[in-house]
Amino acid sequence: MTDLTRLTAAELAATVASGESSAVEVTQAHLDRIAAVDTAVHAFLHVEADGALAAAKAVDERRARGEPLSPLAGVPLALKDVFTTADMPTTCGSKILDGWRPPYDATVTRLLREAGIVILGKTNLDEFAMGSSTENSAFGPTHNPWDLGRIPGGSGGGSSAALASYQAALAIGTDTGGSIRQPAAVTGTVGVKPTYGGVSRYGLVACASSLDQGGPCARTVLDAALLHEVIAGHDPMDATSIDRPVPAVVAAARRGAGGDLAGLRIGIVREFAGEGYQAGVLARFRGAVELLDELGAEVAEVSCPSFTYGLPAYYLILPSEVSSNLARFDGMRYGLRVGDEGARSAEEVMSLTRGKGFGAEAKRRIMLGTYALSSGYYEAYYGQAQKVRTLISRDFERAFQTVDVLVSPTTPTTAFPIGERADDPLAMYMADLCTIPSNLAGNAAASFPCGLADEDGLPVGLQVMAPVLADDRLYLVGAALEHAVVERWGGPLLSRAPELEVVA
Ligand code: GLN
Repeated sequence: MTDLTRLTAAELAATVASGESSAVEVTQAHLDRIAAVDTAVHAFLHVEADGALAAAKAVDERRARGEPLSPLAGVPLALKDVFTTADMPTTCGSKILDGWRPPYDATVTRLLREAGIVILGKTNLDEFAMGSSTENSAFGPTHNPWDLGRIPGGSGGGSSAALASYQAALAIGTDTGGSIRQPAAVTGTVGVKPTYGGVSRYGLVACASSLDQGGPCARTVLDAALLHEVIAGHDPMDATSIDRPVPAVVAAARRGAGGDLAGLRIGIVREFAGEGYQAGVLARFRGAVELLDELGAEVAEVSCPSFTYGLPAYYLILPSEVSSNLARFDGMRYGLRVGDEGARSAEEVMSLTRGKGFGAEAKRRIMLGTYALSSGYYEAYYGQAQKVRTLISRDFERAFQTVDVLVSPTTPTTAFPIGERADDPLAMYMADLCTIPSNLAGNAAASFPCGLADEDGLPVGLQVMAPVLADDRLYLVGAALEHAVVERWGGPLLSRAPELEVVA
């Protein structure tokens, strides 16, 4: 019998639509897989088995009545625990939301349900999506299925690990500085950060509102494209949502799978392919560029000088927004409240609650952001960083006058051992070096598996960056690369990951 958990989302949807397997069978297979491997992986913070089976049953009933099914109906999905869900807790990986039940579904959650996608549960993340390893979760780290002693990337490590360990066929992430792309790179999966405003932020608990973007995670490029079309589109509930047609990403993925990139102009970002990168990452990156060249693309080097300042600018802008966004967690409105017995003032209760509820990284960023925004320092820090942000946008604009997409390694290294950078925030921040510019500028960007590093056998991601609202180009390149990688490596990269031990 086929192992349903090994099928792609497109295959699962076809199986359900044809009646070969029911959505309930598909869902049960994934719930069994979760029971068998998630004690070791810890991708999920919450599994909603009954809700998932009920959603699957509804799909089977629709099919039985002969009603049309949407293209991903019956496919199980893992949702990053930063989107609100009316029937499940939403923790954002933080103790401060302990016991909070959102009164409403995020727009993304609603769209998934309407498409008949089965939400299995909520996945682990760095607290409020701040981190590059998922070690900042208040509920313990997630482990990389390629090597359980290593990080699965962050902040959306739970979503990428769920995919790489076949616990879900689809996942949703959010990308503020790389949290969809970086976990995808280090787990050998696909992750796409749509153009800012392309997917609604309504019900996405804010980290840094001008940077946050939800997006699709999957094992194949076509699966990510199918999911992209479900969650994208204008939402009047989000003031920054773009009121324009969704780029034709599924068509682009199908076209790309033909393996022909003739005429496409690809620019290698000169600033992101030199010193400080792991040798195996650079080798696979160069190998991927050669493959794209063989597929007919024209490859040239492009300079984006301001990208080098992206990291320091981001680590001022992000904490500034975080210090303001996280002010709402005051012990009065949501979740945790500490010390309200006795005669303490509201201020004391707030301070006790925030002291207990937030972890070290959240506190570090709240303090940094409060400082950067304080009068007397505002211009020197926040103001300067915003100017750098403009320079980065201009670098992109200039580059996209001569090339259609830009490429770089997604991350400077492969997955690092759990604990290695836990006490060294600056080393941790380096993981975001290449992904941050696209958040600052708001353009579309993605990571696609491009090989395994020689020195450790771990996956490497190719980052592709496209202009605002040209998300389709990511899928064109990604699908062509996937096609070439499968030929070169004799199958999808993930099939080379070691089998996990299964709990009977
Ligand atoms: N690693 C980055 C950070 O810590 C990005 C996080 C994200 O994209 N949510 O801020």
